[in-house]
This record gives sequence, structure tokens and C-alpha cells, in this order.
Amino acid sequence: MPMEQVRAEAPRADSRPPPSAVSVEESLEVLVDVARRLTRAHQATVVLTPAPGKSKGASVTSLSRAYEDWGGYSVPSAEESARGAGRGRGTRAEPRGRLCVPLPSGAGMLHLFDREVGDFTREDDVALSGLVRLASLALESARLLREEQRARTEAEAAEQRAAFLADASRVLASSSLDPKATLDTLARLSVPVMADWCFVDLKDDTGAVQRTSVAHADPGEDALAARVWDFPPGPEGSVHPTTRVARDAESVLVHDVDEAWLRRVSVSDEHHDVMRDVGFHSLLSVPLLARGRSLGALTFLAVRPSRHYTQADLETAQDLARRAALLVDNARLYREARRSVRLRDEFLAVASHELKTPLTPLQLRLQWLRRQTSADLSSSLPASTVLSQLDVVQRQVDKLAGLVDGLLDVSRLSSGGMTLQREDMDLEMLAREVKAHLALAATQAGSQVSLFTRGDVKGSWDRVRLEQVLTHLLSNALKYGAGQPVHIELRDEGDQVLVRVEDAGIGISPEYQAHIFERFGRAVSERHYGGLGLGLYVTRQIVEAHGGEIHVRSEPGRGSHFEVILPRREPA
Ligand code: ADP
Repeated sequence: MPMEQVRAEAPRADSRPPPSAVSVEESLEVLVDVARRLTRAHQATVVLTPAPGKSKGASVTSLSRAYEDWGGYSVPSAEESARGAGRGRGTRAEPRGRLCVPLPSGAGMLHLFDREVGDFTREDDVALSGLVRLASLALESARLLREEQRARTEAEAAEQRAAFLADASRVLASSSLDPKATLDTLARLSVPVMADWCFVDLKDDTGAVQRTSVAHADPGEDALAARVWDFPPGPEGSVHPTTRVARDAESVLVHDVDEAWLRRVSVSDEHHDVMRDVGFHSLLSVPLLARGRSLGALTFLAVRPSRHYTQADLETAQDLARRAALLVDNARLYREARRSVRLRDEFLAVASHELKTPLTPLQLRLQWLRRQTSADLSSSLPASTVLSQLDVVQRQVDKLAGLVDGLLDVSRLSSGGMTLQREDMDLEMLAREVKAHLALAATQAGSQVSLFTRGDVKGSWDRVRLEQVLTHLLSNALKYGAGQPVHIELRDEGDQVLVRVEDAGIGISPEYQAHIFERFGRAVSERHYGGLGLGLYVTRQIVEAHGGEIHVRSEPGRGSHFEVILPRREPA
């Protein structure tokens, strides 16, 4: 939405220039000068009561020519004050007379020092009291004016924020289901109203933070923007400011950015230089929170000197981030729902195909047996022929039973979790059994299987369930292993045991890696590789029921490593 529109619609604050008035400093200067001349004192100083939290109040001094000429007393220059140098040039004489007149309402004190004329008179005191009353009126009005100007500036800023929020909300409300495009528009809308630079960083499926939008107010800074794109590093322990906000889900407001802060949050010298070249002196970064989870971060940078982020800006940004996060979350849920529907449809197609595959040979054998027996009821088929046909029938029935068992397992897991029958066992013994059991499959796949055990791999686990895990990981390594060798490693890791199954086969592309442990998650077409996409889902459920974890590392064409970490005992 163009900015002109925002300005046209937003109700503007009264934009008349504030009435001109003397400032507090000017009033004080006039006061001390007139007070000195009126009493013919050599020095007049007004010292204001310190502001809360300050140890010293401001002071203003007026000196007569004679006093300065005498050389015993002069106002120090800025440099002298900075060096802490004394005020005097030469010997400093104590003034002879002194008169102190309090300013009304405890605002401070007017001091008059008279060196040559003698003590001050009663008339001086009366005249000064009147003068002080007058001056304090001027002082009061100057203060009120300053207060009013501050309030006016704040009101304008608040109005600007409200107009920006209204505009941003319109963008969000009319957004499509492409959150990136909407966030891009939002970032562009934020400059220059809210910021000189605005970034959006979103977590991807793996939790890594990716920069998705960069908007800046100055069109001449495209080259710098290209460098800014390069610094949203991954979430692992990074000090990068926006990555931390996205990861820890906590807002960051830096009113004044300094060199020490830049050093602290830079991930490299190059990153530091980019931040310095952007030249921001104030930063605001808020998490995109939806359903209690952080989806990323929305960040504003202030470059122009008049802009410093405050608590009020933080609240505006948080409000905006909440709305934006809702949008991102909805889009993700929608995408997820569509993916689930697609997966379910694919699953139904694959399941019917897989369930039908053993049925065809089964039917053929049964028809053949029926034909043979009905053609000649008296002739008895040789037992060996019947037995070999029945073997085929049995194999297909086993295959069907296996598929149906798998389906039942999944539906049981979805409805009620898993109960484990733990017993003390040796994982190496079990792995040997599984390897032997799959020897024929390994031969058929043309893969050699090796098994290494390092240290003690005993623990208390559910034997039947772990057999399922090992069988499944090894069968997959053979199925997707492209006839290359397969290694199984079992390792003692203190309180845990690590199981690693490695193949050098077709591998899994990164975008599928996050999904293969889901129900019906498959990374290959069923035409080339059968399977229901349930095995790794069940495997993960079993591993997690044991308090463990399963991970995959894989590169397409280079093979896959599956790692299971199993705590030896049930957590207390
Ligand atoms: P499926 O019955 O389809 O094999 P799984 O749950 O066992 O189901 O595996 C899910 C998907 O993960 C498979 O469809 C395949 O794409 C991929 N996959 C599993 N193991 C491997 C492996 N060792 N190498 C390559 N891809 C694998």
C-alpha cells in the first residue's frame, strides 16, 4: 500500500509550530545577569535543585568585568572542566559579602557574591526577591513548554505507530496464502515509518533461521542490502541477534547500539563490518510467536539520528509480529493439511497396490490347484507338486499378513501409544539374529552386511520391538542400498547405546529427510520401490517409547546413515 495513502488517512496531530519562548537556560542567564547588575555584585550564580537520581543540579553564573579583570575568579572553559582543572587563574580570593535568595518551590538558589562594595543591603534583598519571583514565572512557563513539546512529539509518534499498525493490519488481512510475499510487503511498509531497515527471518522445517525479507529506506543501498542477506546463520549457539530472538522467542530492544554491542553480537569480522556499514544506532527485534512457538523474528533498525526505539515501539512491533505470525502459522497449517490429504491419497493408492501384489500369485495357484483336482477327481496329484504350490501360497499369505500387521500396528499407535515389555538383553545378540534372518534378502540385494560392536551394549529394552527396529533399518538399507555394502555399528556411549546403520545407496534428498519418520512419509515412488511408508514411523515410535532418538544423515546418491540412541534403562 503506498505511503501517501497512509498519510492521507491518518488523523494528524496539530502541526502548528510551538509558540516561541525563552528556554530554561535563557531565563536563568537573564536572571543571574540582571541580579548581578541590580545589586552591583561581582558574581551571581543560580544553582538548581538536582533532578531525581542526579547528584548535582545545573548552574548558571554571571561575572562582572571587574571581577574577571581582577583574575581571581572565572568560569572554567569546557576543556578545563573536563580535565577537572581548578576554576581560578592565579590566587583565588574569598568574596567578602554573600547573599542567597531561594527560588520559589525549592527549584534552587540564587547566590550573589560581592567582593569590594561590602555587605548587601536590605533593598538588594527586596529587589532580588521580586526578581526571583518574576524569573521563576518565566522558568515555570519554559518548563511547561518543554513538557508540552515532549508530549506533542510523543503523541505524534503514537499516532504514527497507530497508523502504521492499521495499514499493516490491512495488508495482513488481505494477504494470500503465501506468507513470504505478505511479509515482504510488511517489511517494505515498515520503512521509513517504523525503521530505516526491516528484516524478516523465518525458521525453516529443520529449525534453521533463514532471512526471507530485507527492506531499506534508501534506494541507494541495494549493494549493502545484498550483503545484509548473507548473515542469518543457523540456530546452533549463534550470537547473531535476530537468530537469537527467533530461537529464544524473546524480544530485544537496544536503545543505543555501541561498538561493544556490535562486537558482542557479530558472528564474524565480516558480519561486524556489515552491521557497522549499515550504521544503525538503535535496534528492535521481536519473535514471530504463534501457538506458543517462535516461527522467526521481525527486526527494525534505526539509522537516522532522530529515531531511537522505546518501550512503546516494542509494543507496536510485538503486536504486529503476533498478527504476522498468525498468518505464517495459518499458511503452514493449510500447507500441512494439504500435504496430509495428498499423503493419505497416495497411501491409499500404494496400500491397495501393495495388498493386491501377493493376491495375484495366490489366486493363480489356487485356480491351478482347483483346475487340477476338478479335471480328474480320481487322479491324485503328487504330494511334492501340491506342497510346492502350497509353499507359494503360504509365502503370499505371510506377505499379506505382514502388511496387515503393519497397518494394525500403526492404527494401534495412533490410538493409544505403546506399552513396552522391558527385559535385560544384549543388543549384539539381537543384531546377529536379525542379520542372519535377513541373510537371504542381503544376497538377493547383492549387499554384504557387516556388524561391529564397540564396548558393552546391554540394556533393558523390549526385545520384540527392538527386533522390529533393527529389522526395519537393515531391510531399508538393503532395499535402498543399491547393492553396496551395509554396515551396522553398535556402540557403548555410557548411559546410552548407539545403533548406526549405514548404506551407500540412493540416499534421501534434504526436503524429504524431515518427513520420512512421519506416517506415510515416502521419498521414492511406489512404482520403483514398494512399501507403505510406515516402517520408519513405527521405528521412531518404538525408539521414542524407549526414551531414545532417531536421526538420519543422508546425501542423494551417496547413501544414508540412520542413528538410534537408546538410553540403557527406563528413566526414573
Ligand atoms: P517404506 O515402506 O516406504 O520403505 P519407510 O517408513 O521404511 O517406508 O521409509 C520411508 C521412506 O524413507 C522410504 O519410502 C524411502 O523413500 C526413504 N528411506 C528409508 N530408508 C532409506 C534408506 N536407507 N535409503 C534411502 N531412502 C530411505
